[in-house]
Amino acid sequence: MNTQLFFLSASYILGMIIGSFLNVCIYRIPAGLSIVHPPSRCPHCETLIRWYQNIPLLSWIVLRGRCASCKAPVSYRYPLIETLSGVLYLLAFLYFGLSWSTLVFWIFFSLLLVITFIDLDHQIIPNVLSLPGIVVGFASAFFVQPLTWQDSAFGIVLGAGLLWSVATGYRLLMGAEGMGMGDVKLLAMIGAFLGWQAVLPVVFLGSVVGTMIGVPLMLIKGEGGKLAIPFGPFLSLGAFFYIFFWAELFNWYVSTFFQSI
Ligand SMILES: [Zn+2]
Repeated sequence: MNTQLFFLSASYILGMIIGSFLNVCIYRIPAGLSIVHPPSRCPHCETLIRWYQNIPLLSWIVLRGRCASCKAPVSYRYPLIETLSGVLYLLAFLYFGLSWSTLVFWIFFSLLLVITFIDLDHQIIPNVLSLPGIVVGFASAFFVQPLTWQDSAFGIVLGAGLLWSVATGYRLLMGAEGMGMGDVKLLAMIGAFLGWQAVLPVVFLGSVVGTMIGVPLMLIKGEGGKLAIPFGPFLSLGAFFYIFFWAELFNWYVSTFFQSI
């Protein structure tokens, strides 16, 4: 087996294993429970889940999405998040190769996955994730080229400042809370990891995806557009698209619209 294939498989498997832990974080952090203790039990019958019943994706398939003891259904979200995590770890290695950047982006993607699903479930972004995320993102700027610590520091300020202004402006104009402080801290974290250059593109990409998904959802669900859609998942998607597609998109745009001038 060649080396590249070995590292790609290893990245995917590591991502799946970490994904299994991220499921625990998504379930326990909003409930204020410890993420390391006690070991996982079936929420239905309280039976301890053995290690061989907890192998990412495979156990879920072998047990056909049911608890081994009481046969209560186990949510498809568990294998979904494990697979997503595996794919993101694989993509990060494919893109950044054997480097510090890969490690940093593994941490970044793990944080975004946990934040996204907690925000979808509870419409909150816990500080225990976003605040340490800001610190780790800033520290990583010393290892990841070509990002400088100045890019990262300004990314934190711009990310927080931008959404704080939007949130405050909306509250003053509409007299209601339109955006939570959780989103403010999340964009500061994204700015810390990706630098100030990423902040506006991430908000732009997140808003485009948010509009494409959010508007049809509102039309289907009705309620006069009052449906609360969390912004966190779309900021996370915006960050994902920024990392893998922004440079190509930007070059395509410039070459299409400015080459003739
Ligand atoms: Zn059970």
